[in-house]
Amino acid sequence: MHTEKNPGSSYIAGGTNLVDLMKKNVTAPQRLIDITPLPLKEVTQANGMVKIGALVPNSDLAANDIIRKNYPLLSLALEAGASAQLRNMATVGGNMLQRTRCSYFYDTTMPCNKRQPGTGCGALKGINRMHAIFGASEQCIAVHPSDMCVALAALEAKVELQGPSGTRSIPFSQFHRLPENNPALDNTLRAGELITAVTLPAPAFTKNVYYLKVRDRASYAFALVSAAVALKMDNNIIREARIAMGGVAHKPWRLTAIESFLEGKDANETIFAQASAMATQGARAYEHNKFKLKLAPATLEEALHKASEGIQL
Ligand code: SF4
Repeated sequence: MHTEKNPGSSYIAGGTNLVDLMKKNVTAPQRLIDITPLPLKEVTQANGMVKIGALVPNSDLAANDIIRKNYPLLSLALEAGASAQLRNMATVGGNMLQRTRCSYFYDTTMPCNKRQPGTGCGALKGINRMHAIFGASEQCIAVHPSDMCVALAALEAKVELQGPSGTRSIPFSQFHRLPENNPALDNTLRAGELITAVTLPAPAFTKNVYYLKVRDRASYAFALVSAAVALKMDNNIIREARIAMGGVAHKPWRLTAIESFLEGKDANETIFAQASAMATQGARAYEHNKFKLKLAPATLEEALHKASEGIQL
């Protein structure tokens, strides 16, 4: 867990990404501040909302009874992420702050505007199979690697922050940012700020949810494309929909136009095909990731179908 705006110091908790970055000389903080003793390891429920401490391990969160019963989409996404060993170490806050897995970012012999601003983007005309189809810039076409964050975006979580000037709470959609002209910044954290918790609104999607992750290997691989779908259904009519995709942008990518399209519609295969066909509106592919223009709609269509069937965790 670390703050990019204070490069001299980094917070560290599980260290599952930060230690890798240090070993590969991608980052070299002057000092590490171990935050693991902080009392941020609880999942609590009050006034219908749930508060998840930033230091809750991913594995504990996925198995938590409150989460499984009320926010099964989050459990499914967490279980799709990394390996069991990594999930035991990785924290909620660290998961949100993990950095892109763009191979040019990790190779210090290659140009990368995110690692070293102004050097160029090796992926733009390089091997860009894993890269973005939405929201990229000429400066950076990387994707955010988290599965958990895709579910939190769909569930409209909020991020609780504490910094030198006090506390603040921001919508999850405003936490990660697009690369624009400053890809070195992954998020909107201010200098010295720490994520203390994530809060979830009252549960509204407890049954008709699905997280579908398409990847090269069955485990410990990042998403080529993923889809988080949450539906509120009433006699096969979709009353509300929440949809976000992973592996397609520098942040979890919410598909609000498809959510609006689905609301009030009968949950059937024709509607799902029509909705999924909208999934790449505004997308732009690069030389090696054109397959995502077909994979993204196909993934969403399957996730909608699975969500409509309902799940029981
Ligand atoms: Fe660096 Fe982003 Fe380009 Fe990858 S896509 S090389 S992270 S600037």
